[in-house]
Amino acid sequence: MRDRPAPLAVLATSVVEPKLDLRSATLDEACGFAVAQGWPRFRGEQIWRWVHDHGVRSFDEMTNLGRDTRARLAQTAVIGGLTIAEVQTSHDGTRKLRLVTHDGQSIESVVIPDGDKTTQCISSQVGCAVDCQFCATAKLGLRRNLDAGEIVDQVYLARRLLADVEPGRRISNLVYMGMGEPLHNYDNLVRSLGILTHDKGAGLSQRRITVSTSGLVPKLERLGGEDVRPNLAVSLNAPNDAIRDAIMPINRKWNIAKLLGALRAYPLEQRRRITFEYVLLAGVNDALDHAAQLSRLLRGIKCKVNLIPFNPHPEAPYARPSHAAVAAFQEECRRLGMPTYLRIPRGDDIDAACGQLANRSAGSPLVALTSRRGPPAPPPVE
Ligand code: SAH
Ligand code: SF4
Repeated sequence: MRDRPAPLAVLATSVVEPKLDLRSATLDEACGFAVAQGWPRFRGEQIWRWVHDHGVRSFDEMTNLGRDTRARLAQTAVIGGLTIAEVQTSHDGTRKLRLVTHDGQSIESVVIPDGDKTTQCISSQVGCAVDCQFCATAKLGLRRNLDAGEIVDQVYLARRLLADVEPGRRISNLVYMGMGEPLHNYDNLVRSLGILTHDKGAGLSQRRITVSTSGLVPKLERLGGEDVRPNLAVSLNAPNDAIRDAIMPINRKWNIAKLLGALRAYPLEQRRRITFEYVLLAGVNDALDHAAQLSRLLRGIKCKVNLIPFNPHPEAPYARPSHAAVAAFQEECRRLGMPTYLRIPRGDDIDAACGQLANRSAGSPLVALTSRRGPPAPPPVE
């Protein structure tokens, strides 16, 4: 027979205060926590800055705190977050990080150098509930939301990695385009935006942060009223409801008219535009007439269109259009007056393109551990 847990232990855990996760905490919360410990408020700020500016991973690294303070911290707080399980480096310098949560879930984040700019693509959930038919993440279903500490730690881990492998290069831009639907994890999204843009923390500019959504209309409306308002990217992917219904089930709840209505009302700051993402699927949404429908839909919205040729994967019954079809679609969009850009897949030899942060780690392990310099990806399906 197995031993029963000691009653004392049960009693003890039932009265122990939960530890504060400093990685998920706002600066205010850290200061309140310090005061509750009987410390001055500024000690909370010191501790918060260690975690969110310097990115330390243990209390021992907080060198300006006394031994007693650090011992007390170890009893009352934790520094949550992720660990790096694997780093793959593409021939084009893109790095894909596989990160593991405390409960053993894998997520991915991608660091994409582009001249002086370095963009990081981060995940907001493990899996996703939205079930877009072309998306690899959808096949996982939703496993769980990431907490705010797990969202921001993707940036801190990438900063550490870059400091080691490419000193001088810093994360300048952030896109919430990895695994998950950020607006389905609204509170942690907003919390993470507040933490990452705080000038006493990572200090990222909100103008350089983009949240990509499949279009949860009520949450879009709410986001417009928040203090930190990121740029918006909206995965439209279709020029009419019939096609969008078929490839994005969320459209049956909030159709294109409702989505565009919310976007027209979104309080865009001066000189900002909404990005519409449009995954090109051969024979589904890539006809020239679709470009014409798209231009009618988007008339009057300050926007640009990012065309993303479909990234093929075994679970989706679609193909990438030919180069010629992609070029013709882009040309037609431009002719119709829409600023339209082609999103060239980066890190395609390591499946690192955003939206392709697939479930490989859930089933088969990633093949290479570090610095795989493979050949360029095969040409798109013709
Ligand atoms: N859930 C959010 C953000 C993550 S998906 C959203 O849907 O916007 C990020 C982008 O990747 C979306 O624009 C999505 O349409 C695109 N995407 C998903 N799967 C893709 C694939 N197989 N090939 C190309 N783009 C894909
Ligand atoms: Fe979720 Fe975005 Fe994939 Fe749709 S495209 S299933 S919303 S991650």
